Amino acid sequence: MNPGFKAEGHHEVAYGRAVLHLVFVVASSELLADLAKGQHTDGVIGGRGVHEGRSVQGFINAIPFREVMVPALQASGLWKLYQAGDSTVEAVRGVDLTITAGDMVAVMGPSGCGKTTLLNILSGIDEPTSGAVLVNGEALYGISDNARTDLRGRAFGFIFQDFNLLPVLSAVENVELPLLLLGSSANHARQEALEALGRVGLSDRADHRPSELSGGQQQRVAVARSIVHRPSIILCDEPTGNLDTGTSRNVMDLLRSMNETEGTTFLIVTHDEAIAAQCQRTIVMNDGLVVKEQLAEMNEEE
Ligand code: ADP
Ligand code: MG
Repeated sequence: MNPGFKAEGHHEVAYGRAVLHLVFVVASSELLADLAKGQHTDGVIGGRGVHEGRSVQGFINAIPFREVMVPALQASGLWKLYQAGDSTVEAVRGVDLTITAGDMVAVMGPSGCGKTTLLNILSGIDEPTSGAVLVNGEALYGISDNARTDLRGRAFGFIFQDFNLLPVLSAVENVELPLLLLGSSANHARQEALEALGRVGLSDRADHRPSELSGGQQQRVAVARSIVHRPSIILCDEPTGNLDTGTSRNVMDLLRSMNETEGTTFLIVTHDEAIAAQCQRTIVMNDGLVVKEQLAEMNEEE
């Protein structure tokens, strides 16, 4: 490596949902190669781009590219106390967290350590006792209930351990629900729901009710429901907890392909090391706190 190497030029880098048009000067030929792959961009000294309609510019030398983008999720000082009779449960005890757009992040930790509570706070299901959450740079709390419902509905998709499909609705009716809640027309919702079912390989099960589907198929319906409104973030609470190993791998492959092709951000609560191993980053919680964070080893072949 020649640390004095400089290259100037114009390059288009796709990272997550962002496409940045960079005018760059890099410190080394390795960095140039990495930049072309959209990976490591320390060394960019000037750039301009568009991220979700916003102009992003003003890179400074040695500030990693990832850090100048608007994070998908940013939480600061989150606390959640539950009153249970006379005692208070401190479910989340001061969590700060930044989730980069386009990342796939695992959340691990023993039962009762606050994983579900954290997910619920990050998605606006459960208000924190104190602290703040930004979703794609927008405040999730301190706004009206209607505004929060709207932001939640647009930004998030959800996948749960027990699928949470409505038993009286067919697969396609379950999948179109998020769109109908966002005000889509019935025609448009149906069309998009059928397309989403196609993407999870269930076109031929559109009219089946959940009880007529296997566990793996039900979870694929739930995956279709989570992506139908094209959210930027999908939150999964033990998505493979009720599936056997093979089916679990299929669902995980599907999530990874959504992450890779659409740049959808994933936050996945899991007990399964094999699932965490497929994520770029693992956050370990214990007793209401984030106690460890780990980045996956960069695979040189990728
Ligand atoms: P995990 O998902 O990691 O298993 P949870 O977030 O579900 O953990 O729970 C964290 C702690 O908060 C636990 O001690 C749990 O009993 C408590 N808890 C969760 N929800 C409530 C609630 N609605 N009321 C009282 N305590 C709760
Ligand atoms: Mg839980």
